[in-house]
Amino acid sequence: MKRLVVLGGGESGVGTALLGKEKGYEVFVSDKGTIKKKYKDVLKHNEIEWEDEKHTASKILNADIVMKSPGIPDKASMIHQLIAADIPVISEIEFASKYTEATIVGITGSNGKTTTASLTHHILKQDLDVGLAGNIGDSFAKQILEYDYGNYVLEMSSFQLDGIVDFNPHIAVITNITSDHLDRYDYQFENYIASKFRIAKNQTKEDFLIFDADDKVITKWLNDHPVQSTLLPFSLENVINNGAYLDKENIKITIDNNQIIMPTANLALEGKHNIKNAMAASTVAHLLKIRKQTIRESLENFQGVEHRLEHVLKINKVQYINDSKATNVNATYFALESMEAPTVWIVGGEDKGNNYEELFPFVNEKVKAIICLGVNNEKLIHNFGNMVDIIVETQFMSEAVKIAYKIAEAGDNVLLSPACASFDLFENYEDRGRQFKDSVRNL
Ligand code: ADP
Repeated sequence: MKRLVVLGGGESGVGTALLGKEKGYEVFVSDKGTIKKKYKDVLKHNEIEWEDEKHTASKILNADIVMKSPGIPDKASMIHQLIAADIPVISEIEFASKYTEATIVGITGSNGKTTTASLTHHILKQDLDVGLAGNIGDSFAKQILEYDYGNYVLEMSSFQLDGIVDFNPHIAVITNITSDHLDRYDYQFENYIASKFRIAKNQTKEDFLIFDADDKVITKWLNDHPVQSTLLPFSLENVINNGAYLDKENIKITIDNNQIIMPTANLALEGKHNIKNAMAASTVAHLLKIRKQTIRESLENFQGVEHRLEHVLKINKVQYINDSKATNVNATYFALESMEAPTVWIVGGEDKGNNYEELFPFVNEKVKAIICLGVNNEKLIHNFGNMVDIIVETQFMSEAVKIAYKIAEAGDNVLLSPACASFDLFENYEDRGRQFKDSVRNL
């Protein structure tokens, strides 16, 4: 019997353990932190051996194969020991994909993964048997075990991609690449870009790579490191003959001379970045032969994803918008860009070495007041202090929202788009977004 050791007892780890057991492996799960009760219960119920709060080397270094959860860095000493011992260390996606014949759409990028993956799934599910997995919801491994769909849309982080060997999505999407998570890549942007492009490393010309042709990082990399895949770019700026582009108010997507035209006015999601996301998702759908009318309708009735430019409430003609998921400057850039009214902006948190310069034009043009919501707000005050008449600090969401309520006038927006991580004041971005929505509802 082969021994599968799973490092990390979260969603992907426990999913892998279950699938591994079903496929005849002797499975052991080890987590250096605490495994959540709900996962412990699943492991116990399925008679899978596990430990937490430690890694027992003797139970790990005897593995035939190791699945590492995406949260564990390559620098962890256990990973070093495994590599030194020549034991293969792979990701959940790599392990699980061996057990399905499904057509796979893999979606990666620095921003827009969840939105694009959810939107793609929303369109495909109208006509196809399709699951949504990866960084969203139930793990890929668990879904394969419980009900193997004919198609999957997978949201893939660079950490998931670092652990692939043979995994090959028939359709890959790279939404954009801006620097993020550099702490995990030796502070080399190149390493992070290379990681994103692993999504296409096993593709042949029968497979497709959909990407943002306006993104200079992507186009330069492709130029210097050609891939085998058939390329289907999308662009807001240039005409694209094979792929998608914006022709005035219409998205036009052409694949093998078969064109679909969709008016942007009817898109459910607002903002230029969402036109890009819609282009990427519809190109996937067009490739998979979803009916044109279905694609159009799905783009119109998509409900959006929580915490991404989510419209919460209108109070006294002021629109409150929750973009808590904007944990970096690039995401906030698109949020501010999409504001069509004077905006009271709630920003701040744990700064990951942000450079705020690209936001200056929008702040000058659209932002009437800034509410800094972080433990340390000095950098924000230094950057934006003389751009707006009002800039205040608080460390409580409820207070931030009350201040915004006082400042905002009919027709304005109140936007939470922090450009920073949430961990200084909140559990995570979801907690931050929920507190915002609760505070708005309590006004
Ligand atoms: P991810 O899953 O990659 O983190 P999300 O879809 O959760 O991406 O969106 C994260 C943040 O980025 C949100 O604030 C959202 O409004 C913004 N965003 C969404 N799509 C894009 C895009 N194509 N380019 C830049 N920012 C985007």
